[in-house]
Amino acid sequence: MWQRFKECLLNLFFPWDNLCCHCQRALVSTEHMVCIHCEAKLRQCILTPLEQLSTHESLALCISAFAYEGIARKLIHHLKYHHNTTIASLLGWYMCAALLESPAERRWDAVVPVPLHPSKLRRRGYNQARLLGQQIADCFRLMLRDDLLFRIKATASQTKRTAAERFSAMQGVFEASTQASGLHILLVDDVLTTGATASACAKALLDAGAAEVTLITACEA
Ligand SMILES: [Zn+2]
Repeated sequence: MWQRFKECLLNLFFPWDNLCCHCQRALVSTEHMVCIHCEAKLRQCILTPLEQLSTHESLALCISAFAYEGIARKLIHHLKYHHNTTIASLLGWYMCAALLESPAERRWDAVVPVPLHPSKLRRRGYNQARLLGQQIADCFRLMLRDDLLFRIKATASQTKRTAAERFSAMQGVFEASTQASGLHILLVDDVLTTGATASACAKALLDAGAAEVTLITACEA
């Protein structure tokens, strides 16, 4: 209820729909979500089909739409810290395009966002991975399931840790429901860095019986 009220207030004072979600310039009728100048810069960050793909422990395939640089990096920052949900629609649209271009078989049963710890979710008010996941679920007519994977341990910021430290810090952080059993899961996150978080999520889902986990992220660092 409070979240909905906050969104209504934000929409009243910041009508994102009519402004570029990056530079806040008024959009003309041919522009959608982002102005033509920012869109051109965003397109420079798109990864080639070969660069989009990587593999990580426990994950069948990892697909990313953008390199984590330039305007793509700034948009992620705005999405995470400024409640600009139009950005999730914009990036989500490019993530759907990356999935369509990828060799993934698209036999997913559910879209699962990488969960935030409940304390962090309370502080931020929303999970950016869930916003991206909703856009992808809508695009592929899949169910968004945020009842399959849980973050049971809060973790400190990973930014100053080495890859090995990140992997070890992620042990026992996630737990999955046995309802994931037999499902092909499309896991969604904002940024792929070392793959430690996504691998830990995939491991929890596979331990709970999931058939396969594919990762889609907006950006790859
Ligand atoms: Zn713009």
